[in-house]
Amino acid sequence: MSVLRPDITSFRRHELAKKLIEIGLKPDLVKPLWNGVYVKGATDFSQIFTLSRKHQVLLADHFTISRPTVVRDLISRDGTRKWLLQFPDGNRVESVMIPEHDRGALCVSSQVGCTLSCTFCHTGTMKLTRNLTATEIVSQVLNARDGLSEWGKKRSDCVCTNIVLMGMGEPLFNFDNVSTALQIIMDGDGLGISRRRIMLSTAGVAPMIKRVGIELGVNLAISLHAVRDELRDELVPLNKKYPLQELLGACRDYPAASNARRITFEYVMLRDVNDSDADARELVRLLQGIHAKVNLIPWNPWPGAAYQASTEDRIQSFARIINDAGYSSAIRASRGEDIMAACGQLKSDSELTVITR
Ligand code: SAH
Repeated sequence: MSVLRPDITSFRRHELAKKLIEIGLKPDLVKPLWNGVYVKGATDFSQIFTLSRKHQVLLADHFTISRPTVVRDLISRDGTRKWLLQFPDGNRVESVMIPEHDRGALCVSSQVGCTLSCTFCHTGTMKLTRNLTATEIVSQVLNARDGLSEWGKKRSDCVCTNIVLMGMGEPLFNFDNVSTALQIIMDGDGLGISRRRIMLSTAGVAPMIKRVGIELGVNLAISLHAVRDELRDELVPLNKKYPLQELLGACRDYPAASNARRITFEYVMLRDVNDSDADARELVRLLQGIHAKVNLIPWNPWPGAAYQASTEDRIQSFARIINDAGYSSAIRASRGEDIMAACGQLKSDSELTVITR
């Protein structure tokens, strides 16, 4: 029976109303149900006291409220926390909570594994197993709220205030599920994380970018990493399909970007590969006409990788050229490296899985 019952967190509000009608309930029960699941963190219908006992039982007959199993829960010495989560079919993903002084970003995965095979990325060495469902994406946020004991708290008392779709997978290869999940996450009467607090990162699926702006309006990040097609073809093989000109054209037209809401261009700094002053100057040229800011990411090592991180001086010099041209260029602090939770270090297949709860 339980495999047939859908998870209540797979539905957007209007879909849930329809489901309730189908089982003979009034759609106005969506309100207490939504509040119970997304504000109070109920994991069982019997915990939603604003519903009658009869309704609790009927709902439990038709739906579940499930959570992934936490296989591993690691905390870095800098406070970054990484959960390895397992879904009922045995597939696993990681999500990472990066706390900052008055807020924090949860880095969420969109696929089990990844098909992009970016040469500098650890996740890229995993095979793609499958897309995550909308529920599985939402459940990463629910798991973070559980783990941080944040149910029912005021936003100002929460660490999990922002979401970045920068975990495992390419979100724009799983757009429908990502979109459904984000609509649930953004719902103001539930988790209530606004589109301004959400960032979707893509390796450059150019034709999908417009829909992100129109349908979701979230902040956009582009994993650029190279300023010439020849090198980008090698580092981010997806570039062969959507080369720089096409990608940057889509960014120029991104409907949700403005002077106040700039597109973040992520650029991983690889020693003697993409980190010269000439590269920085070319980057400035490419960004002309785009509401852009640059995020320089010191490359994070992983076992067997063929790259080295750029030196601190090199990164500073690269950043200066971009700043002098009028673009902000933050150097991203590496977080959670000691637990392999930093950018590009996530990998969840059995090779690295040690179950130590
Ligand atoms: N597929 C999407 C979402 C992943 S985001 C995308 O590519 O944007 C993860 C970010 O970390 C990407 O910008 C990725 O290029 C970067 N990254 C991957 N490996 C890294 C590494 N070893 N060190 C630093 N950043 C890395």
